[in-house]
Amino acid sequence: MLRLYDTRRRGIFPFRPRGREVTLYVCGVTPYDTTHLGHARTYLTFDVLVRLLEARGRTVRYAQNVTDIDESILQRAARDGVAWDALGKREERKFLEDMDRLGWRKPDVMPHATREIRYMHQLIRQLLERGAAYVVDGSVYFSVATEKRYGELSRLSPAKMRAILATQDDAALDERRRRDPLDFALWRSVPSGPTWPSPWGQGRPGWHIECSAMALHHLGDRIDIHGGGADLIYPHHEDEIAQSEACTGKCPVVGWWVHAGLVRLDMAKMSKSDGNMVFVRDALTRASPEALRFYLLDSPYRRPFDHEEPRLARAAARQATLAADLGRPTRSDAIGRDAATRRVLAALEDDLNVARAIGRLERSARSADERVRASLRAIARGVLGIV
Ligand SMILES: [Zn+2]
Repeated sequence: MLRLYDTRRRGIFPFRPRGREVTLYVCGVTPYDTTHLGHARTYLTFDVLVRLLEARGRTVRYAQNVTDIDESILQRAARDGVAWDALGKREERKFLEDMDRLGWRKPDVMPHATREIRYMHQLIRQLLERGAAYVVDGSVYFSVATEKRYGELSRLSPAKMRAILATQDDAALDERRRRDPLDFALWRSVPSGPTWPSPWGQGRPGWHIECSAMALHHLGDRIDIHGGGADLIYPHHEDEIAQSEACTGKCPVVGWWVHAGLVRLDMAKMSKSDGNMVFVRDALTRASPEALRFYLLDSPYRRPFDHEEPRLARAAARQATLAADLGRPTRSDAIGRDAATRRVLAALEDDLNVARAIGRLERSARSADERVRASLRAIARGVLGIV
């Protein structure tokens, strides 16, 4: 049985979905720049999780959004002198090309924020009715004082939260309108840029309400797993919990919060805003998709990952050896019940310990008979995508 770490409870628990279908929502990209290794590692972690659940007989409904309106898109579009929506469409297309080359199991639904604004309005209306939000000059803010569990996910002090908020792209838009510096925008009247009509006036949705609305609309009010990069824990996921639980009255709306550690370059987070990125399409000129998957997955997913080119080369060499030892995949390869297979699956079901699973594949691949090798190939290819 799969055991999975939940960030909110700070522990590993046996995974028990609440319905016949496992529901998974992963926070997707804000398309304004090219896919880097940090994105790839996060989405490949969830790719392995989905494939593992499906290989073990579960049906998974997987939703991943596209944040196609955001201050960062508007800022980049203004800098480059291009239309914001054309920039978003172009970068989203490139993201999908990159992930397809990495062989991901595509989400079942990829909602776009700009197409779901009416669902955001519904949630905002409910939050106002319940007294969890207030209007100031055409903007609507969530009142964190109304949520007694606020802060449970990130466990940060208010001072630390304020320091993080000051670094956000939209920080400058909310000054002086809020009752509490931790209150966050659900809807904003803005001085410039694209806007949509709303009951509170023309404006743009806040980032967090976008994901609450899309997750609740596409998956319902019981979400088994909600994932993303570890940098989303605060404010994005903390605020999502506050909104979704205030709206539905259900706690928890999400069973497991799963976060992938960030990819670092020279000890600094790889990020678009800092410009220290290694792009997937560049890495794929030096390694095959299977080797790049091997490299990014062969370490504990919750910890930060330090990118080093010599490590990528070593991973590519190990991947080539494993592929040779396992032999060529065939259509009839299927996961069996032999001891070697069980050991590999046990590692994966232990909070996705891919590094241990790969080590066990490597040890068994050479000595196993053809029947067992066919089963190991089915895992290496079907679940991990590394051969
Ligand atoms: Zn999100």
